[in-house]
Amino acid sequence: MDEGLGGSGAIKISEYVVGCPYCGRYTFKVEEYVYEVPVFGRILLSVGSCSECGFKRRDVGVLEEKGPKKIVLRVRGERELRYLMVKSARAAILIPDVGLEYTPTMYSYGYITTVEGILYEFQQAALIACGGVQTQECRDVLSWIERAINGEVEFTMVVCDFDGLSKIVGEDVIEGELDETCKSLIGYSI
Ligand SMILES: [Zn+2]
Repeated sequence: MDEGLGGSGAIKISEYVVGCPYCGRYTFKVEEYVYEVPVFGRILLSVGSCSECGFKRRDVGVLEEKGPKKIVLRVRGERELRYLMVKSARAAILIPDVGLEYTPTMYSYGYITTVEGILYEFQQAALIACGGVQTQECRDVLSWIERAINGEVEFTMVVCDFDGLSKIVGEDVIEGELDETCKSLIGYSI
């Protein structure tokens, strides 16, 4: 077993070669591991790399038999901000209250984070998108994210979990069917 892939409890379950998402050649090797994580249970970790172009991709996901779903959480303050979550590479995340939307691309990867951690991801993306020229819209969005991180505003976080591998752990997390909003997102076809 390779070192550093999930620690001592990781078990390699498969290894296969598929077409590379970047260069298209049939040289993209994927290795999959399963390991036990407190709180989440069984986690699937997949690591892929292309021997021709060097493109890499990693993903994590919970191994539950639930399938694609929409996860909704009303974040009221610090309690929900600290909820742990698995965001798989193909998941999309929406904050409808302020129109923030994250849709996956070929370069997206999966990771374990917290609800607050997702806000930091949006903050980073907004800082990059706004660049040096900060319009009023940029200032409004950045200020909102800052207040959300501080637990000063309530908002709803929606995860469109296209492959059924994402999860938010905590009370009052609602899981339901993928709806039209989720299905209309670009990520659905990836
Ligand atoms: Zn490649």
